[in-house]
Amino acid sequence: AAVDAKKAHVVSRMNPWTGQPYSQKYYEILTKRKTLPVHQFLQELLSKVAANQVVVVEGETGSGKTTQIPQFLVEAGYGQVGQFSVACTQPRRVAAMSIAQRVSDEMDVTLGDIVGYSIRFEICTSQRTILNFMTDGMLLREAMNDPMLAKYKCIVLDEAHERTLATDVLMGLLKEVLKRRPDLKVVVMSATLDAGKFQTYFDSAPLLKVPGRMFPVEIFYTPEPERDYVEAAVRTVVQIHRCEEPGDILVFLTGELEIETACAQIRSECAQFAGSETVGEVMVYPLYSSLAPQAQQKIFRDAPGPKYPGGPPGRKVVVSTNIAETSLTIDGIVYVVDPGFSKQKVYNPRIRVESLLVSPISRASAKQRSGRAGRTRPGKCFRLYTERSFQEELLEQTYPEILRSKMSTVVLTLLKLGVEDLVHFDFMDPPAPETLMRALELLNYLGALDDEGCLTEIGSQMSELPVDPQLAKMLIASPDYNCSNEILTIVAMLSVPQVFMRPKEAAKEADAAKAQFAHMDGDHLTFLNAYHAYKQNDGNKDWCFNNFINTRSMGSADNVREQLSRLMQRLNLPLKSTEFTNRDYYTNIKKALCAGMFMQVAHRERSDHYLTVKDNQIVGIHPSSALDSKPEWVIFEEFVLTSKNFIRTVTAVQPEWLVEIAPHYYDLSQFPECEAKHALEAVYRRMLNRQAKAD
Ligand code: ADP
Ligand code: MG
Repeated sequence: AAVDAKKAHVVSRMNPWTGQPYSQKYYEILTKRKTLPVHQFLQELLSKVAANQVVVVEGETGSGKTTQIPQFLVEAGYGQVGQFSVACTQPRRVAAMSIAQRVSDEMDVTLGDIVGYSIRFEICTSQRTILNFMTDGMLLREAMNDPMLAKYKCIVLDEAHERTLATDVLMGLLKEVLKRRPDLKVVVMSATLDAGKFQTYFDSAPLLKVPGRMFPVEIFYTPEPERDYVEAAVRTVVQIHRCEEPGDILVFLTGELEIETACAQIRSECAQFAGSETVGEVMVYPLYSSLAPQAQQKIFRDAPGPKYPGGPPGRKVVVSTNIAETSLTIDGIVYVVDPGFSKQKVYNPRIRVESLLVSPISRASAKQRSGRAGRTRPGKCFRLYTERSFQEELLEQTYPEILRSKMSTVVLTLLKLGVEDLVHFDFMDPPAPETLMRALELLNYLGALDDEGCLTEIGSQMSELPVDPQLAKMLIASPDYNCSNEILTIVAMLSVPQVFMRPKEAAKEADAAKAQFAHMDGDHLTFLNAYHAYKQNDGNKDWCFNNFINTRSMGSADNVREQLSRLMQRLNLPLKSTEFTNRDYYTNIKKALCAGMFMQVAHRERSDHYLTVKDNQIVGIHPSSALDSKPEWVIFEEFVLTSKNFIRTVTAVQPEWLVEIAPHYYDLSQFPECEAKHALEAVYRRMLNRQAKAD
């Protein structure tokens, strides 16, 4: 009877958030949660937070910081339904979504109710949300409309050691906000790196150190550098699977294409062991940001068991981008394969080019990666580079992103927030003066800033649109060219992951499919055609599949378009179209594109290659372009740095439009000597002649 009474007591425990009894799953997870290292420190955290405005938390990845601390702060009263809430920032969209889901499960609530997430173009919260996992960029956006962040009683800056641009800017802002809001609390959380730097920055904030439980990890290096790290990674995984003790494998690669290729190869090479008495089954899961959320959650599944009683156990292999380095922890990892690369932003202010480049990671990253192998028991890490290169070639730490990014969006945001003195803004690491200057210059040319550096009406509107300043300008200018509906579509298509799929084994068919949508004037109009075709087919999945169109990306584009169109209406920007039969239909669209992109133009030289206008960089049109001619003038979205420099997403334009739309930028007295200059001189002469005749 005593047992029954106890049971009854347990069963009757109510979840205060839902008014329902807790589920079985809740108790199962609770048992696990109580074993996390952070669990013993929750009271200490609470008293530190009560006594200080800023607390820094440092703890080994996987110790429970992200899933437990924000939740605990909510339970301690920093979140009150209908009054105020707790925000927890994440550098990555995937992490924000995945963690919000996990914490909802832990609290036994439905995602989007008490616990939600906010990432660009996707807000999953309600009136009742009191714990919001959001990207750092989203919180920065919110600050524009709510500069005191009045909604929040407590802000948790997670993954601060990643030093993303948005987190760095948030830290600077919060320093100001904290002075004016004595009731606001900030918890800065980081992996075991640099906690001291955060403490100093926040005026000697106290530190809570969560000791990690780490098992030894044996490190192996390759004797010689590897020529093809993807191939080497696959080989290493197969080797581990064949020869090593049970335990799951985590492989770090740099992007979707690489990851999918590696996954397919691992699957096919491991198929040879089917039926083996000594080698078990493998389950291979990819993890990268553009993956569907359900697919992302698969990484948390258990490894497959033996195929038959007494058979060899199976193994889970996760092939991931940097996101598994510190943002997400996968239990059961015993082996880490680290080729030593990640995609990193680089910015060259001199030629105004920002790109994502596959670059060597830092020693700090390499250590984090190997640490992933020792969470549950001793593990092994296979570094696919030499020990010498680890010691001598890798940087100690990755440079903060603020030193590697263009700053135009951030500068616009800060100005909107009323921060005018950018030079004296308290950045943890101030950006290079040239980078700031470039940003101010771009915003001035776009009409967002006046010559005194103050935000204009257009600038203020631009800051409301959650896209690059150049795209924002395009949207704002589009009603003047009678084509806001079309520009909305193009901007939406530019804001989502790759729409046209091109699998290696079906490249030819994919190219043929894309050719149906191709517009002879280039890629922006090709995007427009593809979107219209998609809508005509009601977003039909089979249609997408047969035409090598990524259904998910198109779905996102539709959603982005819807949201941007609502924002346009709020800004009183009318939604218009030119009649399709009007001969200016495409001209109007291309002119509106120029209104945003007039600083990203390339000119075809007599030698037949392209030079970027003003910066004089030699570039080629990317082979993926729908253009099949070589127009004299093109605008481009993106500068791709590889062995050769390419411009991607390209459209043919007329030089007359450029000088009409942006005379201040095409002021030839400010122009370097080049063929483009001479061509433009001719354009100006023709225009003058025409005007003289008209007069
Ligand atoms: P930290 O932030 O300190 O790196 P986390 O709070 O992210 O740690 O992770 C704590 C634990 O929660 C880990 O053991 C991790 O495996 C587990 N966990 C997190 N998300 C999930 C999930 N979606 N499914 C299962 N376990 C999860
Ligand atoms: Mg974490």
